[in-house]
Amino acid sequence: MAGKKTVEKKGGIHRARAAGSQSLFRYPKLRIGAGDRARFWFLSDGEDEYFDGARFHLFPRTTRSGKVYNQEVMCLRLRTDGDESCTFCEEGHEEMALRFSIWIWVDHVLHLGDNPDPEGQAWEQIRLAAEKGKKKGRIMFKEAIGQPMVIWMAYGKEWVWFSQFDAALNQYGTLEGRLYELKRVGSNMQDTDYTLSMVKATKLPKTTAEKVEAARVSIDQIFAETVSGAGTARRPTRLSDNQPEDEAEEGAEEAGEEPQEEEGIPQEEEPAEDLV
Ligand SMILES: [Zn+2]
Repeated sequence: MAGKKTVEKKGGIHRARAAGSQSLFRYPKLRIGAGDRARFWFLSDGEDEYFDGARFHLFPRTTRSGKVYNQEVMCLRLRTDGDESCTFCEEGHEEMALRFSIWIWVDHVLHLGDNPDPEGQAWEQIRLAAEKGKKKGRIMFKEAIGQPMVIWMAYGKEWVWFSQFDAALNQYGTLEGRLYELKRVGSNMQDTDYTLSMVKATKLPKTTAEKVEAARVSIDQIFAETVSGAGTARRPTRLSDNQPEDEAEEGAEEAGEEPQEEEGIPQEEEPAEDLV
């Protein structure tokens, strides 16, 4: 992730190689593993162009390392209420799913274990507030992020994931001005669940403005780009090296080792409210 040393020589084969291995999805997606908690601000008030949802055609693909994932291509027919045609619908493709997406500013992600990258920096340890009936909260490892990303999620069974975002907007009238936490439990399609909580009312730091300005495009544009890049959906996968999207991250994150007990670890605030 962040903090990696960049390669000095960027031209020639380096650029050719980079272009070839570029992900079809060029916006940074929030990816969290089992037990992770992402702490973030919304970069949307909830009713603007930075929060959107649509129906996507799913095309199974395989990465070079053998991971199976779905390439997601927005259905133009459903997006436009039938005004525009969709080549995939016309071909009788029926494997589809709903997705919603929102721009967020990720401040940090709390992990159960330390940085799995042996060459990366160790993450700072923090202690969560104690749960009821316990003397001490658990220790987690804090990966500083500090960049805009998009949440890209399934609506969940009976819209249970989506409805938490809906609840936040209903409760506060805007998604802005509060720090939130998205917590993931489980690691595969069957046992994964997400909980959105409001941590505290606090403004997004002004120092983020420039990075936000540079990164943020409408979610509609991001959705549209899945269609313009869809020619590759049926191309042989043998030479592609796209990063797995969504479901494919499953299993990538192992539950971390039990953190060592240590004194003097800063305490992390617990979310004030769950939005279930
Ligand atoms: Zn379609």
